[in-house]
Amino acid sequence: MNKNKSSQWFQRACQVIPGGVNSPVRAFKSVGGNPVFIERAQGAYLFDVDGNRYIDLINSWGPMILGHAQQDILNAVEEAIHKSFSFGAPTEKEVLIAELICEMVPSIEKIRFVNSGTEATMSAIRLARGYTGKNKILKFEGCYHGHGDSFLIAAGSGAATTGVPDSAGVPQSIANDTLTAPYNDLRAVENIIDSNPDQIAAIIVEPVAGNMGCVPPENGFLQGLRNICDKKNIVLIFDEVMTGFRLAQGGAQQLFNVIPDLTTLGKVIGGGLPVGAYGGKKEIMDYISPSGPVYQAGTLSGNPIAVSAGLATLRYLYQHNEIYVQLEQITQNLCQKIEHNIAKTGVKATVNRVGSMFTLFFTEQKVTNFSSAKTSDTETFAKYFNLMLEKGIYLAPSQFEALFVSAEINQEIVEYISQANLESLRKISAMM
Ligand SMILES: *Cc1c(COP(=O)(O)O)cnc(C)c1O
Repeated sequence: MNKNKSSQWFQRACQVIPGGVNSPVRAFKSVGGNPVFIERAQGAYLFDVDGNRYIDLINSWGPMILGHAQQDILNAVEEAIHKSFSFGAPTEKEVLIAELICEMVPSIEKIRFVNSGTEATMSAIRLARGYTGKNKILKFEGCYHGHGDSFLIAAGSGAATTGVPDSAGVPQSIANDTLTAPYNDLRAVENIIDSNPDQIAAIIVEPVAGNMGCVPPENGFLQGLRNICDKKNIVLIFDEVMTGFRLAQGGAQQLFNVIPDLTTLGKVIGGGLPVGAYGGKKEIMDYISPSGPVYQAGTLSGNPIAVSAGLATLRYLYQHNEIYVQLEQITQNLCQKIEHNIAKTGVKATVNRVGSMFTLFFTEQKVTNFSSAKTSDTETFAKYFNLMLEKGIYLAPSQFEALFVSAEINQEIVEYISQANLESLRKISAMM
C-alpha cells in the first residue's frame, strides 16, 4: 500500500502542529508508523490522499452512525449554508432539535447546546456544583469525559481517595476535588462517599464505557449508582457523548432503563459537525444563566450549520428506529465471527460489545474495568492494527478504544472484515 503523500503531509504537519495532529489519538504513536491523511469519505469507506480505500470502523470516533456523506444530512447542510454561517442569535432549528431530543432521551426535560463533548461535561459539573452547593465529583478509572481539568485525574495510590493530575498543567488543587473509583465497583463508590460526607456534588459515568475500550456496565451497576445518588443527594450524570443516539434512540439510559439527573451529549448529536449538549431535569437546568446563577455561554453555540446536520441526523434516527436493530444484528454477527477466529487461531483475546460498539482486547481476562483492560498486550494490538490497515480496514490506532459500526456496513463487508481478521490472527499466532 502506497502511503507516500500521507507521509509527506505528516512531515509538513509536524513542523506546524504539535505532534502533527489536532487530537492526540489520531497520531499512530501506540501502533507505530504515520497517520494516513484522509481526502474524502463516502458510505462505509474512507479514501486517503494516496488513493487508498479503507473500510471505516472509527466513523469519526462515533458521529457517523449513518455512514459518510449521507444524502439527507448533505441536503440539510447544503440548504443551511446559503443562509449564512452564524448569527449569534436564536434560530428555529435550535428549538426543533431541543424538542426532538427532549422527546427521544428519557431524562431530558431541558437542554443547552455547546460545541463539543468536553464543553458539555465541564458545564454539567459546574451546574451540579452550583445546584448542590458541594465541590467534589466522583468519576471512574478508565472513563473519559473530555479534556477539562477536573477529569484529567488518575486514581491516587493505595487507600488515598484523592486523585492525582493525569496531565501536566492540571493543578493538584483541582485534583483534590476529583475522586476516582474502579468501574463496576459499587462498594468502592460507597466507601468513597462515606469518607467524604456531604461533599460530593456529582457522580459522572459513561453508562457503557467506551474510552478504555468497550466495557459494559455489570448488572445492577447503573441502578446502584442511581440509588446511592438518591440517598445522598448527589447529581447523577450519564456522560452519553459516545452512547447517546448510538445504542438506542434514547441512549444507554433507555437501553438499561436507568434515569440520570443530567446527561451530556456530543458525537452523533452533530452528525459529524461540532455539537455538544447537556440536559436533564428542569429544576436543575433552570440553574443555568440567564435563568439561574450558574454561568455558561458560547459565541458559536447552536451554530446553524452544525445544528442543521444534527437535526437531520436525529430526525433520520427518530424515523428509522429499525436502524438500531440492524446495527445490533450486524455487529453481533461480526463479533461472533471474530470470536470464532480467536478460538480457531488460539490467540489470547476477548471481545466486548454493546450494540454497535465493540473492542477486541488482546487479553485472556474478562475485561470489566480499567485494570483488566490494561492486561491487554498492546504490542500484539499494534501488529494487529497494522495488518488490518494493510488489508484496507481502518481501526482506532489504540487498544483502548471502541470501534463503531455504521449503518453502511453490510453483510458483504462483515465477511471481508472477518476474513481479514482471521488472516491477521493467524499471522499473529505464527509469530508467538
Ligand atoms: C468523546 C467523548 C468526550 C469528549 O468529547 P469531545 O467532543 O471530544 O470534546 C466526552 N465524553 C465521552 C464519553 C466521550 O466519548
